[in-house]
Amino acid sequence: MKRWNGWGEINTVYPLPPTAGIFLEERIGRCVTPGDVTLEESVKKVPPSRLPDHPLVSRDPENRLRHSAGQSLGDWIRLRSGTVATYPDGVACPETSEDVREVLKYAENTGARVIPYGGGTSVVGHLSAPSGDRPVVTVDMGRMNRLVRMDGKGCLATFQAGVRGPDLEAALRAEGYTLGHFPQSFEYSTLGGWVATRSAGQFSLGYGRIERLFAGGSVETPVGRLDLPVFPASAAGPDLKEVVMGSEGRLGIITDAAVKISPLPGEEIFNAAFFPDTEQGIASVREMARASLPLTMIRLSLPEETTTNLTLAGHSRALELLRRWLAFKGVGEGKCMLIYGAVGSRKKVRWALNQAVEIIKAHRGAPVGARPGREWMKNRFRAPYLRNTLWERGYAVDTLETALTWKHLPGAVQSIEAALKNGLSEIGEKVFVFTHLSHVYLHGSSIYVTYLYRVAPDPAETLRRWRVLKGAASEAIVRSKGTISHQHGVGEDHLPYLKAEKGDLGMKIIGGLCSALDPGGMMNPGKLTR
Ligand SMILES: Cc1cc2nc3c(=O)[nH]c(=O)nc-3n(C[C@H](O)[C@H](O)[C@H](O)COP(=O)(O)OP(=O)(O)OC[C@H]3O[C@@H](n4cnc5c(N)ncnc54)[C@H](O)[C@@H]3O)c2cc1C
Repeated sequence: MKRWNGWGEINTVYPLPPTAGIFLEERIGRCVTPGDVTLEESVKKVPPSRLPDHPLVSRDPENRLRHSAGQSLGDWIRLRSGTVATYPDGVACPETSEDVREVLKYAENTGARVIPYGGGTSVVGHLSAPSGDRPVVTVDMGRMNRLVRMDGKGCLATFQAGVRGPDLEAALRAEGYTLGHFPQSFEYSTLGGWVATRSAGQFSLGYGRIERLFAGGSVETPVGRLDLPVFPASAAGPDLKEVVMGSEGRLGIITDAAVKISPLPGEEIFNAAFFPDTEQGIASVREMARASLPLTMIRLSLPEETTTNLTLAGHSRALELLRRWLAFKGVGEGKCMLIYGAVGSRKKVRWALNQAVEIIKAHRGAPVGARPGREWMKNRFRAPYLRNTLWERGYAVDTLETALTWKHLPGAVQSIEAALKNGLSEIGEKVFVFTHLSHVYLHGSSIYVTYLYRVAPDPAETLRRWRVLKGAASEAIVRSKGTISHQHGVGEDHLPYLKAEKGDLGMKIIGGLCSALDPGGMMNPGKLTR
């Protein structure tokens, strides 16, 4: 069963090695396990539903609680402390496009607001019910999870939009194909959610972000159905797929999506290398991007993240041997770890990895083979479970991300990290911060920042600390000329910063699209636009 106030399945636990506890205590201080409220206590706080009966809509309080939030740190704090302010009045579970239309009609008749809900993995406040007099119905797409059409020869497959990552990949793999889209939230996130948030998977360097993979589909909007036919390319005016991607449930409900698929690769190899410092590491991945190597993934952990990952991995004896060997190679304190990989035919993979090694060596890097890459592959969807363990130890964990041109990247890392590190200094609290580059492009890269701080005895104070830190980091991103989101989207949490990159006219265009497809302001209000 899925946790109602944390990440993942209840029975999956990611324990911390003993050395990690000491490591974190040294950096942030000693913590106290927070006293979380129970599910029963939380269910009692759910107010009566304001919606009338409907066969597609559940008004069960526990179901409404479970759909009241996503996975942002703010969502976690509110769920774990029993301070969720608003709940959907009902949860609809459609199985077909006709059901979706029926739910939209029901919402129109009852004056309800509608929140499309994929896997509930949003980390930027996409899913919270707006306050106000109008009731709210959340539309859980989980039952719309079928493979609708498979065209292997044409490298296309069409799914209902509520299909989760593992089910989508299993259906494709059975036919010898893959989508190649693996966000870290893969276990729960859905195809519709990926499109609606412009998601980027871990192998985006090879397969592309969802923008490259989404080929067409259908959207049920309050004013009718929008069909997006599949063409290999088209010059027929603006591409309406672009409007739907990143629409965050504001324009309607994506009911099915066609995606570009690839034959399953013969070989997948993920290797690691270490660089003596950040400058050499960044110069090396930038050169790999310039050389257009057919790599599938490049992930460069900066020094603090490298140390943290190695410590959290345990294996102290093996790590000591690695440390000595790297020191002998001239890679000591301040080192950066790179994981890079390629998938495809044996010949292509070997060629790509050999080219990468040449670039690594030219930047004084030390390739160390496949073991760290294999570990990373093994744990890549398990890592989010660490958030549960850390919370239970009294540490709040959050992540944020942006993308910048190469010119602005080093300055941005410094200023975002400084904003977080100093964010709680006036109350004498330490914030532990580390960063990696994960999606590398010809013109720049994404940066992904993780920060940890102590949970306060009072949940309101834990929430205040999060708001202070998130605000400081978001402002630093905007000041540093980064986008407010490379992959998580806008939601409520990033909305105050959107205008800085879209401008007045851009915001007007987005608002105009929303009014055209949703004149009654029914769809997911408060997200993407006010
Ligand atoms: C641990 C963790 C790791 C993550 N890693 C990544 C990552 O590697 N890459 C990445 O891109 N993101 C990542 N995310 C963020 C999140 O998983 C993505 O934003 C994902 O695309 C959301 O998909 P979902 O199905 O869970 O959508 P939800 O969270 O349910 O919804 C997100 C938004 O999309 C809308 N929506 C959902 N389905 C539909 C639909 N069918 N029609 C219209 N609107 C819809 C919702 O209304 C909402 O506004 C991560 C999140 C977590 C918690």
